[in-house]
Amino acid sequence: VLTLALETSCDETSAAVVADGRVILSNIISSQVPLHQKYGGVVPEIASRKHIETVMPVVHEALTAAGATLGDINVVGVTYGPGLVGALLVGVAAAKALAFALDIPLVGVNHLEGHIFANFLAHPDLQPPFVALIVSGGHTSLVHVRDYNDFALLGQTRDDAAGEAFDKVARVMGLPYPGGPHIDRLAAQGDPSAIAFPRALTGDNFEFSFSGLKSAVLNYLNSAKQRGLAVNAADVAASFQAAVVEVLVEKTLRAAESCSTGVIVLAGGVAANSRLQAELGRRAAADGLRLFFPPPILCTDNAAMIACRAYYKHIAGRYADLHLNAVPALKLGQ
Ligand code: ATP
Ligand code: MG
Ligand code: FE
Repeated sequence: VLTLALETSCDETSAAVVADGRVILSNIISSQVPLHQKYGGVVPEIASRKHIETVMPVVHEALTAAGATLGDINVVGVTYGPGLVGALLVGVAAAKALAFALDIPLVGVNHLEGHIFANFLAHPDLQPPFVALIVSGGHTSLVHVRDYNDFALLGQTRDDAAGEAFDKVARVMGLPYPGGPHIDRLAAQGDPSAIAFPRALTGDNFEFSFSGLKSAVLNYLNSAKQRGLAVNAADVAASFQAAVVEVLVEKTLRAAESCSTGVIVLAGGVAANSRLQAELGRRAAADGLRLFFPPPILCTDNAAMIACRAYYKHIAGRYADLHLNAVPALKLGQ
């Protein structure tokens, strides 16, 4: 089965061809990052326009790279939420047109489920059940993945997402957008215990909060500036990152215990964070748990993960029709 998938939920225009759900034949990602960088974040109107220009060229590039033609494709998958409505609509419209013209099934994919499924592409032996920590630009959620089509949300952030906190802290530190990878690199030269930033909601629940931590970092930087004190940027980055990672690690381990699973999976852009991988890896190993995460290119937005998710919905006969619409606030499992 050859799946062609499209992903246009945010600022990446991506198309991929995946064989039998797990084998990537092509995964073309056209990033709009340089376009949005001068604004310090994604500008929705600019994103939509760029998706319109890019979506079909990217589809053709994905087919060529896969050595396939449109006639070889069996299923079309597309992200229909969550994300920016104008951006999602471009992918949804293109995917509907392709499915209609080729007379093949259409599958609507939840972007967050796609992030989880990136792990199935990277790890051929990985199977549910497991606990997944989704840490992306817009979401921070713990999910019990009971089966390929059976998810239970354990808890999520009450305010900022982990990636959002990385990006906002990076912005005030004068680092380029998106800031997560820059903080990660800078932190490697700093002392993670230099500054005691707060750890929020450390109680016995699966919720997160990162806005207080973000404010604490901003206050630290502002008060140093007012008093004319020099700050050690690497120490700030390392201490901030340590605060985020500590809470993520504790809650994820607790979630694995509460679900009685020996397998933990990281998903989303922040899954590429080196400290998160190292700390969770160390703690998981000590507890006899297995930890999986995708390579960096499959952590951030890409259409291959959407194709993988679409394949498993295809196997289950869960198709969309040509009324499929963009759902900006789509919930997991919908
Ligand atoms: P969502 O998936 O919630 O809709 P999104 O698609 O914008 O949001 P992703 O593409 O999954 O988010 O991830 C992008 C985020 O990952 C950005 O916030 C970015 O800063 C962050 N990120 C990427 N690499 C790293 C890293 N090494 N350390 C920390 N954060 C990182
Ligand atoms: Mg992006
Ligand atoms: Fe994403």
